[in-house]
Amino acid sequence: MDLSYILKKSAGNLYWKNLKGEYQGANDNFLKVVNVSFVEEILGKTDRELFSDRLSKKRLETIESTDKRVMSTGKTESLREEGVNAQGQMAYYQTTKTPIIDDNQKIIGILGTSIEITREVLAEEELKKAKIQAETANEAKSKFIANMSHDIRTPLTGIVGLSEILIEDAVTDTNKENAKLLHFSGEQLLSLLNSVLELVASESFEQSIETSSFNLQNLLHDLFELELPALKLKDITLELIFDDKLPAIIKTDKGKLYRILLNLLSNAIKFTAPGGSINIEVELESQKNTKAVLKFLIKDTGIGIPKTELDKIFNAFYRVHPSFEGNYDGLGVGLHLVRQYVETLNGEISVKSLEGLGTHFQLVLPVEISDKADEASPLQTIIPDIPIEKPTINHSSTTPSSDHEQFKILLVEDNPMAMQVAASMLKKYPFKIHKAFTATEAMNALEEKEFDVILTDIGLPDFSGFELAKKITASKANCPTIIGLTAHAKQQAELEGQQNGMTEVFEKPLTAEKIQILLSYISDQSSPEQQKTKPSTTLPLLDVELAISYLGSKEELKEMIEIMLNQSMNETVDMIDQAFANNDTDALKKAAHKFKSSCLYCATSQLLQHTQKLEALADNKDQNALPQAYEGFTESLKETKTYLEQWVSDQN
Ligand code: ADP
Repeated sequence: MDLSYILKKSAGNLYWKNLKGEYQGANDNFLKVVNVSFVEEILGKTDRELFSDRLSKKRLETIESTDKRVMSTGKTESLREEGVNAQGQMAYYQTTKTPIIDDNQKIIGILGTSIEITREVLAEEELKKAKIQAETANEAKSKFIANMSHDIRTPLTGIVGLSEILIEDAVTDTNKENAKLLHFSGEQLLSLLNSVLELVASESFEQSIETSSFNLQNLLHDLFELELPALKLKDITLELIFDDKLPAIIKTDKGKLYRILLNLLSNAIKFTAPGGSINIEVELESQKNTKAVLKFLIKDTGIGIPKTELDKIFNAFYRVHPSFEGNYDGLGVGLHLVRQYVETLNGEISVKSLEGLGTHFQLVLPVEISDKADEASPLQTIIPDIPIEKPTINHSSTTPSSDHEQFKILLVEDNPMAMQVAASMLKKYPFKIHKAFTATEAMNALEEKEFDVILTDIGLPDFSGFELAKKITASKANCPTIIGLTAHAKQQAELEGQQNGMTEVFEKPLTAEKIQILLSYISDQSSPEQQKTKPSTTLPLLDVELAISYLGSKEELKEMIEIMLNQSMNETVDMIDQAFANNDTDALKKAAHKFKSSCLYCATSQLLQHTQKLEALADNKDQNALPQAYEGFTESLKETKTYLEQWVSDQN
């Protein structure tokens, strides 16, 4: 085949010039760009002669200087050029220019090939513009959310604070319960806002890394201690397994690592049923001098994650079980933050899961190995020290998960806020809650499951709570207890309720007292440990109900109180006494802080208040007020100790 034919028909623009920049030949495509029919029309002509009517002087100079450079250096160059197309319009070309070398190795000209890329360049520019616009908009959105959240937060903290005062001041039980609900809703909103703020903050600002050297195993033990009440509450076994080769002291961003692990561990606890187990395994994956790669495995025997959802769980606000299903709390923010932190630390996180069997999260993290831990521990303030001697590595609670049966309750309520409040109240009792937002949803649930009790709002969107009760009574041979909830006066609703098969109608809101009545309908054993008879205006020496809500059961509380009596009240209080005697406010602050945690978990509320005061004054080095606070503390300590000893002996 004739080679010149192939050259003529080759793709793109092909041309060659001599040392003076005069064209010596070109393919058909190039002739089209020049707008001539025969190659002879361009031979011996320069770019200036061919294109001066269509290209600016500057463009022509750039072409000439590029050609000169290629011919003098002898190096091929690939570049993006601006030129014209066959229609005479501005065009972009991806061009390669190569020197032409003769048999004597002398450069005698230049060979150019160009492909038009105008469309690609324009699309790229559009994309760049769109990206900038999107980033600006996203930034503005984040700023807006952050500002708004801050603005809402301020009055909201006012509401939360005032509602606390209302709880204290309320004279009647109903007022107190209402104030508690108000307080609870405020707290919920506040925590929602905090999560939003944290998310926005992490997106825009929290990319910085603050490294420190610390003991890795201590960090994990701290984590374990923090989650101990939750683990005990659900009777979940946690095992920490450390590789022998693991470095003792590592250097990385301790705060971020702590938050990553805390998120993963609390999810594992949340999504694992009582009696399950969690393993945290830490291994040394590789090491080179002082650089190491650690592998953390957080394995649970929980509900697992469906395969189709696995890639979505790291997205912001994504939850496999959204709130309306009512089984698990959460905002779906945790894992999103985890991934951001992991990326900031140049680590990798992955997840494997089998539905119904459990979930394994794997974190691979590059760290530095250090030989000495830094003095200051930035986490000290957020990790409360609880009165446990040393964390048991293989912690397994011997007490049964709960000493009361779980009642299945169907909660029917269309107002999400009222639903949340009722569910939160019920959660403190032995109920397994199933939520339905309409009467139809409730009917569907009843077809699938058995319930011990149905608690239904009267004013539902599809049909009323009365009608729902009537239908259930008619259709079920073994009918569960049905209780109505009304926002109106009870007397009116009560009669209609009874006529339709309801056992009782409660006035909203649902209070602890009403739940007691509800429990008495479905079980002869009345509610869990509830012995608050008369609300006292001063803080209780021991708030049994509150402590049990932290610790899970009376048995756990008894154990904790014994530890408090035998250890904290001796050792830690000795430290407080000594620090006070020596006028050492730093030591006093530390000891009071430590003791505060014991008071917090055992809910020795009055003593907690005195200890908090002592800590705050020591922190402020307030020498004038300290003696009186110390005296108050000592008195309260005596009183509490006597009370606790009596309480413990009453339990035996
Ligand atoms: P949250 O726990 O607040 O809902 P996360 O971002 O921490 O939000 O988790 C997102 C979702 O991933 C959870 O709602 C849950 O559906 C799923 N998930 C996370 N960890 C686990 C786990 N250990 N077992 C089962 N599901 C999990």
